[in-house]
Amino acid sequence: MTPPDLSTLPERLSRLHELALDLSWTWNTGRDVFRRLDYLLWRQSAHNPVLMLRQLEQASLDRAANDPDFLAAYDRAIQTMDTHRAQNGHARTYWQATVGATEGVVAYFSAEFALHQSLPIYAGGLGVLAGDHCKEASDLGIPFVGVGFMYPQGYFRQRVSPDGWQQEVYEQLNWADAPIVKAQTLDRKPCVVAVPLGARTVLVQVWEVRLGRVRLLLLDTDLEQNQPWDRELSARLYGGGQDTRLQQEIVLGLGGVLALRALGLTPAVWHLNEGHAAFVILQRLRDLLAEGLPWEPALVEVRRTTVFTTHTPVPAGHDAFPFHLVEQHLAGCWGSMGDERDHFLALGTYDNGAGPQFNMTALAMRSAGAINAVSQLHGDVTREMFAPLWPDMPPGDRPVGAITNGVHVPTWVAVDLGRLFDRQLGAQWRDRYDEPAFWTAIFDIPDEELWTVRRALRESLFQFVRERARARFAGEDAGAARVVAGGAMLDPHALTIGFARRFTGYKRPDLIFRDADRLARLVNDARRPVQFVFAGKAHPADEAGKHHLQNIYHQALDPKFGGRVAFVDDYDLHVAHLLVQGCDVWLNNPRKPLEASGTSGMKAAMNGVPHLSIGDGWWAEGYTGDNGWLIDGGVTGTDLDAVDTADAGALYRLLESDVIPRFYERTTKGVPTRWLAMVKQSIATVTPRFSTRRMLKDYIERAYAPAFRR
Ligand SMILES: *Cc1c(COP(=O)(O)O)cnc(C)c1O
Repeated sequence: MTPPDLSTLPERLSRLHELALDLSWTWNTGRDVFRRLDYLLWRQSAHNPVLMLRQLEQASLDRAANDPDFLAAYDRAIQTMDTHRAQNGHARTYWQATVGATEGVVAYFSAEFALHQSLPIYAGGLGVLAGDHCKEASDLGIPFVGVGFMYPQGYFRQRVSPDGWQQEVYEQLNWADAPIVKAQTLDRKPCVVAVPLGARTVLVQVWEVRLGRVRLLLLDTDLEQNQPWDRELSARLYGGGQDTRLQQEIVLGLGGVLALRALGLTPAVWHLNEGHAAFVILQRLRDLLAEGLPWEPALVEVRRTTVFTTHTPVPAGHDAFPFHLVEQHLAGCWGSMGDERDHFLALGTYDNGAGPQFNMTALAMRSAGAINAVSQLHGDVTREMFAPLWPDMPPGDRPVGAITNGVHVPTWVAVDLGRLFDRQLGAQWRDRYDEPAFWTAIFDIPDEELWTVRRALRESLFQFVRERARARFAGEDAGAARVVAGGAMLDPHALTIGFARRFTGYKRPDLIFRDADRLARLVNDARRPVQFVFAGKAHPADEAGKHHLQNIYHQALDPKFGGRVAFVDDYDLHVAHLLVQGCDVWLNNPRKPLEASGTSGMKAAMNGVPHLSIGDGWWAEGYTGDNGWLIDGGVTGTDLDAVDTADAGALYRLLESDVIPRFYERTTKGVPTRWLAMVKQSIATVTPRFSTRRMLKDYIERAYAPAFRR
């Protein structure tokens, strides 16, 4: 990688690169600096300041260095960055005030992290959760380091063929354009660790991302010294088959532990986010055995310090590998373990229905002292699902707790809405948003002001959708019908319902089309039109998911819906922001109880976009009766067709009887009073309870602090 050319920066702006490389700018005032610097480049670079600074003309920099308004924004951003990095600033952090421990860190392992669209190392919800977790850890001052992968080809960019079939495009990331630097060891050398894989050794380079007080370490096998096939091991997230997957997970688990050590970090807590990272346990056991501990005390020590979060009730979502593959790829590890090898294999042995395999979730559950699911309902489901791990134990005693997910409020609440809160609630809302009582003040905000912001956010969404449709028309010669399907004819004043998430069977993306004629009547109502915006990727190997996507695309192409059904391609963090902020209603209709939590609905609800959802995941505990809608078809059981029909019927009834009339009922000034009452309830009830701040305080209290205090 070519280092950023610092020589061209004017003296007065000498810390601009530093600002660009610390992703805390994404949720603080830094955005303002880069927008002002060169608005066109800002947009063209997809809000990537590292790329932008590489392309910026010297003249723009010189102009900025002499512009008092720019300099004021710059100084503000630098000051905020410094405050957000200080370990001992003038105000004590939450961690210092409550736990206070300064020895050791929380090491948080995840296969994906979604921090910003310029770092495409995420696929979806799991990554967003991990990214938000890191950001909040910085805000709360938790001694914390993330460990993941630097996938140079990321997940994939999505395009859709004229017939609606998903095309996966892999682009090689230019590393100089990404907000990463090489991690350095204490003696200032690039950090490279050696991981035993099969009979060979694979070298792993460690990169680093800065997020305020927190660092994220990213492992990368693309080193010249490695064999070509090993260089490709970390190329793609969730790419390749089981064989690649297993090797990646070995690199993550073993390499991650070795990287922390090489960097002089000593974790007090090892938090494994999903089973992908569970080989951390193997490396830690190897280390403890090498220190001379017998097996049992070594395992006790690992349990005392390991936290595990499980994320899905879908059986196929839990990685399990045939033993011969595990034997093969861990061959280099057994030497030091002697007879303990069989003990280790027993920790992962589990029959998930396909015969005994080496199951990463079972390994983590048998080796972690604190285990949690990601919503209360998911806790119940998990205690049932993994019952064989605790034979003869009643469900209530099985050691799986629940810490409901949350989202990072400063990341997801729209800038315009945040400014409205600043004016109406005072800037203190930024420190107090996880206090439920604080939000009663929202009911004093004048409806007109809130409505003005809601309309502006919808307008921004449509500007973006139109620009994307224009880009596909111009760049790919997409025909007229495809431009319509891309959302070119959406009406910026009509009730807009959003649905964006991974396309996969249990999420039932096309449930709303079950009775297409009934839907068409709603959509085409001349006075009270309704429109839908869909976005989302199907996993490359999920054929069924791709068929759901294709079905939606065909509906979007169908003149029957008058251009009021749109599919926006290439869903990513940027598109997600615009959708959760700009729609009016957020639709979520999974097949219960398969949605462990879901988080996009939380993002929407805190932006005043009420949730219209099945009572699954977080909504089972988030719905209060007047902060959104509960879809309940009243049918359960194994006749899925009957369940789907009933749920679709309940969905249409809600739209017809409440959602649509409420939205279009206006005062003489055009303000939807009853609608805004629900918008306010949505913001006031969801923001505090489903923020990452509340979530991390739960993790601190139940999982982190106990391990630190011992
Ligand atoms: C929030 C988010 C998700 C998760 O959405 P769910 O509703 O939880 O499935 C997926 N992808 C992106 C880009 C997101 O921002």
